[in-house]
Amino acid sequence: MLPTKIKLDAGDGTLAIEWADGHYSNYAYADLRARCPCATCTGAEGRDAESKAPGAIPMFKKALRPERAEMVGRYAVQIFWNDAHSAGLYTFPYLRSLCQCAECSQRRAATG
Ligand SMILES: [Zn+2]
Ligand SMILES: [Zn+2]
Repeated sequence: MLPTKIKLDAGDGTLAIEWADGHYSNYAYADLRARCPCATCTGAEGRDAESKAPGAIPMFKKALRPERAEMVGRYAVQIFWNDAHSAGLYTFPYLRSLCQCAECSQRRAATG
């Protein structure tokens, strides 16, 4: 599944993605950043996290937002955050799995 449109500022601090199948996903910036799949954020590298509470955004408490997003090939989106973090490649299936809409939540609940 490919995104057809990525809207960085969809209002209320969210990013929106329109998918090729017509599905519409909305992501809160903080959620998206908390789920950054890069090695630093997932803790695979540099485990110096002194105060890395789950979901916390280290060293950045101001209004976090994505400045731009770029397609990486045909499989992922790279998000450039306003704190200069851009290491995370959000693959399309990953992004779709993060969709919080009622339909997707229901499907996830149904399949466990
Ligand atoms: Zn990251
Ligand atoms: Zn959905």
